[in-house]
Amino acid sequence: PNFGLYVVKDNRMPAEVMYSNASVAAKEGAGNYLKYFTYYTDEMDAKLKKEQEILNDMHRALENEEFCIYLQPKYNIHTNAIAGAEALVRWKKSDGTMVPPGEFIPVYEKNGQIEKLDEYVFRKVCQLQRRAMDEWKKLINISVNLSRSSILHDGIAECYIKIAKDNKIPFSCVPLEITESAAIYGKRIHSTTEQLVNAGFKLHMDDFGSGYSSMLCLNQIPFSALKIDKSLIDHVCEEKGKTLVEQVIMLSKLLNMKVIAEGVETEEQIIELRKMNCDEIQGFYYAKPMPEKEFTEYVKGNH
Ligand code: C2E
Ligand code: MG
Ligand code: MG
Repeated sequence: PNFGLYVVKDNRMPAEVMYSNASVAAKEGAGNYLKYFTYYTDEMDAKLKKEQEILNDMHRALENEEFCIYLQPKYNIHTNAIAGAEALVRWKKSDGTMVPPGEFIPVYEKNGQIEKLDEYVFRKVCQLQRRAMDEWKKLINISVNLSRSSILHDGIAECYIKIAKDNKIPFSCVPLEITESAAIYGKRIHSTTEQLVNAGFKLHMDDFGSGYSSMLCLNQIPFSALKIDKSLIDHVCEEKGKTLVEQVIMLSKLLNMKVIAEGVETEEQIIELRKMNCDEIQGFYYAKPMPEKEFTEYVKGNH
């Protein structure tokens, strides 16, 4: 157990507030096995307030369409042609500030609201694909991220199947990215992913190499592609790092998965990855995530 301590500076403070501050400190320290107690700090309070604000704002932000989708292209490493894209959410607040997903997604994940956002993003991407089919008769697969709690949510498969059907798009043009830490939850996830794959969705394992139990879920879930995490790619030009990535790629091929390298930033990395027979590249070296309009223009210019 971790104890939370609040040092009383003002005796007039209500006991409930003192207690609540100590609880905040206790929660903050939970999971740290090197410490038995944690002192309350003002930063903890500020963090909590910010999280609360993010949570309170979500409903309004969804209604006002403040969440927008950026698209980052993926490239065929051998031909340099655009091979697909990933949808990445951004929060464009009414005052114009852009909030990156790292700031709000973990908060929504913790509070069980992420499903709503994931579904929103998925629906937007399906609509975008519908427009692409109507307007330029050409489809580039756009993958969508599914958080751990979304994939564990009841009825998720039925819900996503319905959205894709309503938009009359092929299920294969909206691959679903699942992180490896999401994939370790056993039976339940097994039946959901099976249902999705049977319907025609492609599943991509995201962030491979950044978590644990990754091997196990490769065996349990029918992934069609594996995305190697940036943390592994960062070392692809070093001796050990190279061997690691090389073996991961080999393993993926043996398991019939396509391999996508994430977070590629230099030419040297591309050269190494090409030699290893990696299939696709996603990274700042080629392109950063961009708004839909810019993406459409970009794709037109690249064909
Ligand atoms: P991710 O799914 O692994 O997405 C890739 C992240 O790496 C993106 O960050 C992208 O901008 C960044 N990236 C791509 N190439 C490079 C590179 O060359 N260098 C560096 N330094 N970074 C690169 P972003 O957009 O900030 O998203 C962060 C994470 O937030 C995503 O990681 C994903 O886990 C999550 N996320 C984004 N959109 C959604 C969503 O709609 N639903 C859920 N559940 N999660 C989302
Ligand atoms: Mg992803
Ligand atoms: Mg990733």
